[in-house]
Order: sequence, then structure tokens, then C-alpha cells
Amino acid sequence: QTADSLYIINQYAQKYFAEQLWENEMGQAVAYSYLQQRGFTDETMRKFGLGYCLNERDAFTKDALHNQYNKELLLKTGLVSQRDYGLQDNYRDRIIFPIHNHIGKIIGFGARLIKNRDNAPKYINTPENELYVKSKILYGIYFARQAIEKRDECLLVEGYTDVISLNQAGVENVVASGGTSLTPDQLRLIKRYTKHLTILYDGDAAGIKAALRGLDLALAEGLYVRLVLLPNGEDPDSYVQKVGKDEFNEYINNNKKDFILFQTELALKEAGNDSQKRSEVVNRIAESISKIDKAEDFSRQQDYIRQSASLLKVDEEGLINLVNKYIREKL
Ligand code: ATP
Ligand code: MN
Ligand code: MN
Ligand code: MN
Repeated sequence: QTADSLYIINQYAQKYFAEQLWENEMGQAVAYSYLQQRGFTDETMRKFGLGYCLNERDAFTKDALHNQYNKELLLKTGLVSQRDYGLQDNYRDRIIFPIHNHIGKIIGFGARLIKNRDNAPKYINTPENELYVKSKILYGIYFARQAIEKRDECLLVEGYTDVISLNQAGVENVVASGGTSLTPDQLRLIKRYTKHLTILYDGDAAGIKAALRGLDLALAEGLYVRLVLLPNGEDPDSYVQKVGKDEFNEYINNNKKDFILFQTELALKEAGNDSQKRSEVVNRIAESISKIDKAEDFSRQQDYIRQSASLLKVDEEGLINLVNKYIREKL
């Protein structure tokens, strides 16, 4: 009931904000020109239903109330908040990114500042409500699902603009997690379409950390995970806009690394010659390998054991014993 009403409000709000982007003078001067500067075409802006919230106290709120939308529901969408003096628009002077579920219904919004303001967050997202359940959302899934099935691979990026730029470049099998590590629900949603997940995170330390956090969960879900680190300082949006589709695809294909092997190499580098730390690494990798369901994927587990043993410079027999120990502990 509430959910249905929220869908209706969200749909109306998307239309309203898009109208401000395309029809309003300030929308054109401020938001449209910003998006254009970032390299987005009209077609792309329309495909993703982008919009603009005017830099006015309550332009949206007034229009919504005028159209008989219910105040409590408006507050629930997060588009509006209650102040002493009345209701006000929450996403003032921000670009609006509608977020669609896998069947194309709008479940919430992301909103990006156009000009950086002190202590205002760059992005704000819809608060948790009946439709917007953060742990289940993959931005872009509606536009990606066919391409994911067709190419039997899902690319995972951090942000809205990464998804949008890649789509514009013709890379459509891409979704974003919102910069956080993946949840089991998100992994299961991906698994409906493919078992092959390729994570494209920023090459900085935070990006690597966020990517690694998803690993064991993804293995447990039976996904084949690969990782691509982008050149320093680039995210998928900036990189594809810089080098174009062909060079981007080439880079991805040349730099895809299996996740477990990537983790092994990284951990070994960190451990250096410290034998205590090296043996901790062996344990950690054995635990990761033990997460692969043996019954479902015996030969895959064998492959990992062979490759990791060689990277770790331990004998396979010993690694097998260790993996089996972790499997027994799991039972
Ligand atoms: P842009 O290119 O417009 O700067 P981005 O997507 O590259 O955007 P990042 O800083 O890389 O921005 O963040 C990645 C994603 O993390 C964002 O797209 C957004 O979903 C989320 N995010 C970033 N900052 C915030 C924030 N302050 N609050 C909530 N979510 C955020
Ligand atoms: Mn980053
Ligand atoms: Mn980014
Ligand atoms: Mn970016």
C-alpha cells in the first residue's frame, strides 16, 4: 500500500526534476551545462532520467502539495524535510539521479552537488523506506540486465556517473554498489543473470579495500570474481571519457585478475619476509578457498590450490590439508 504510493510519488518527482533540467532557465544554465561539461549527451541524460532540483527553498514541495501528494509520504521519500517554518526541498541545487529497480520502477534518488559547498556531502541518497533498501540496490540494474545475460558477465563500479559514462560508451553490462562493499542480497541479484563478476574499483587504497571486502561473500555465493584496478587517479567514468570505448575494453581485458590470486599477491607483498605474517597469509587464503563450494565446483577449488600454492611457495599437500581443515570447521 505505502509502497505503491511511494512508486507513484517517485515517478512524479522524477518527471518534475527532469522538467526543471530541460525546461527551466536555471536548470539549463546550471545543471544541463554541468552535465554537458562532464561529457554526457542529451540521449544519455534522458535515458537515465536525470533531473535538477532548483536552488529554491520549496519549489518542489509546493508543486507536490499543489498536486495533492500526501505530506507524510513526501517526507518518507526524503525529497522533503520538515523545518520550523514548514517543509523544504532537501536536494536543492543538486543533480538528481533516479534509481530504478530491476523492472524499471523508481525506488529512490541520488543527488549530487553541482558546486562543492563546505560540509555538505557530495551525494545524498534516499533514506531507507519501504522501497529503498540500501542493501538490495544495484544502481543501473534495469539498463544492464539484458547485457549482463548476453555477455555472461557483470561489471561492478562504485558510482552513478561510472554506470552512466560506460553506458554512453556502449558498455552496458554494468551496475554500481554506491561505493560500499557488496551485500549477500546484491550478490544474489547479480547471480540471477550471471556467475561472472568483474569489479572495477578506483585504484586507490580505499577502492582496493572496498573491493576485497566482498570476496569471501561472493565466493560463498558461487560467483567467479575478477578484479581490475584502474590507473591511479581514474575512476571508470573519467577513464572511459579519456581513452574511449576500445582502449577501455582493452585495458579491462588485459588487467582482469582473479580475485583470490590478486588477494594472495597483495597480501604477500604486505607480509614481505616476515615468516609469521607469511603463514598468516597462507591461512587466510586457505580460508578463502574453503568458501568455494567443493561439491559444486571441485575442479575450481583444485585450480586455486595449485596456483596459490605456487604463489605462496608452499606444497600443495599442505595447502589442501589446511583448506580441508577450514571446510570441516564450517560444517
Ligand atoms: P563524481 O564523478 O560525480 O564525483 P563519483 O561516483 O566518482 O561521482 P565517488 O566519490 O567516487 O563519486 O563515490 C562513489 C559513489 O559513492 C557515489 O556515486 C555515491 O553513490 C557514493 N557516495 C559518494 N559520496 C557519498 C556521500 N557523501 N554520501 C553517500 N554516498 C556517497
Ligand atoms: Mn574513490
Ligand atoms: Mn569515483
Ligand atoms: Mn567520478
